[in-house]
Amino acid sequence: MAYLVRGTIVHCPREAGGQPTLETFDDGVMLVDDGHVQRIGPATTLLRSDLKDLPVEDHSGSMILPGLIDTHIHYPQTDIIASYGEQLLEWLNRYTFPAEAAFGDAEVAAETAAFFIDELLRNGTTTALVLGTVHAQSVDAIFAAAAARDMRIAAGKVLMDRHAPDNLLDTAESGYRDSQALIERWHGQGRLLYAITPRFAPTSSEAQLAATGRLARAYPETFVHTHVAENSSEVAWVRALFPDERSYLDVYDRYGLVRERSVFAHCIHLDDDDRRRMAEQGAAAAFCPTSNLFLGSGLFDYAQAREAGMRVGLATDVGGGTSFSMLRTAAEAYKVSALHGQPLSAATMLHLCTRAGASALYLDDRIGGFDPGMEADFIVVNPAATPLTGRRDRAATTIEERLFALFTLGDDRHITATYLRGVRQMPAA
Ligand SMILES: [Zn+2]
Repeated sequence: MAYLVRGTIVHCPREAGGQPTLETFDDGVMLVDDGHVQRIGPATTLLRSDLKDLPVEDHSGSMILPGLIDTHIHYPQTDIIASYGEQLLEWLNRYTFPAEAAFGDAEVAAETAAFFIDELLRNGTTTALVLGTVHAQSVDAIFAAAAARDMRIAAGKVLMDRHAPDNLLDTAESGYRDSQALIERWHGQGRLLYAITPRFAPTSSEAQLAATGRLARAYPETFVHTHVAENSSEVAWVRALFPDERSYLDVYDRYGLVRERSVFAHCIHLDDDDRRRMAEQGAAAAFCPTSNLFLGSGLFDYAQAREAGMRVGLATDVGGGTSFSMLRTAAEAYKVSALHGQPLSAATMLHLCTRAGASALYLDDRIGGFDPGMEADFIVVNPAATPLTGRRDRAATTIEERLFALFTLGDDRHITATYLRGVRQMPAA
C-alpha cells in the first residue's frame, strides 16, 4: 500500500568519493510503496502532484532519517551491560562466559532475544550484525524474534573450541556442522542473513580456524564476523599462540577469513599492512567507541582507516559497549576522533550510522539511504524530546547544527517511531 511520510527528511546521498554530505528537505515528503522508498522531495511540490490523494503520516516538526545500522553487537550480553572494572580478557572470564552459559536454555534465549529486538527498535536500529553464543539454539532464538518483526538481522553461532569453560566449547567438526545446518535453515529466509562467527583467534584451535575457512569458502554470500586487535594483552596472547604469523589479522587471513562480507570488530592495534589488506580484500571494520573506552582498549583511528580505503561501520558492541543507542555511540565516535585531531562532521556521523554500515555489510543497494527502490527502513526523530535538547534545537540555525546537537545529546528518548519495510514496528501498531 502506498502512503506519504511528511517531516524534515535527512539522509546522506550516495558518496561520489570525498566526504559524506547531507540531502535534506526541511518540509519534505517521502513516498513509500510496497515497503520501498519510491521518491523524496519538497512537500510543496509532491503534495500538489499525482500523489496528492495518498494518505499522509504527518511528522512535521520531526526528522525522518534512514534506520540506523549496528555492525557489531552481542545479544547474550544484554544482561551484563555496565559490569564493573575489567579489561577484555578478565571481562570475558568474569562476566561474559557465565552469562553466555545460560543460553543453553532455549527459554532464556527466546526471552532475551525478544527483549533485545525491542530494545534495538526503541533505539532506532533497524539492522544489526549480532553474535549469539556457542549454542545453535541461541541463533534460532534471535532469528525467530527478528522474523516476527520483519527485521534484517545477520547473526551466527559462536565458534569456540578452546580457552573457555567446557560448557561453552564446541569442536572443529561440531562447530562446522552446526553452522552449516543454521545456514541451510536461516540464511536468506526473509530478511535474515547468516554470519560465520569465530569468537576470536585465541578461542579457536588451528583445526577450527581451518574448518571455518572451508565454511567461509563454501558459503561466500554469508558474513564472517569476529574480533581483531582490540586490546594489547589480547594482541600479545595471539602473538604467543600463533608465533609464525606476522600480525593478528594474518592469522585470519591465513585461513581465508579476510574477504568481502568479513566484519572485524575493533581493529585498534593494526598496522598499515593490515589496513591495506583489509581494504584490498573488501573486509570491514566495526568501530565500537563506547566499548573501546569502557574496557580501556584504545582509540580506533577512523581517519586512518578511511585513508587506507577500508569499509568502516559503527557499532555499539553491547555488552562491552555501554549503550544500545547509535546516537550515543556516534557521540563517542566523535570524541575518539577528536582525540586523534579529526573531529567528525554531522554528515559523517549520520553516514557512519547509515550508509557506511550498509556498505560494511554489502547491503548498500538496499538500505542506508532514501534512494528510489531502497527498502523503507526509517525512523522518526524528535530532536527536541527533552527540555535541554529542545532549547538547543531551537538555537540551531542550520540542519548540520541541529543534527550535530542531536548526535551529541540524543538517545532513545529522541526516537519516536521505527519503521521496517514501511511498517511501523515501534511503537507497536
Ligand atoms: Zn564484541
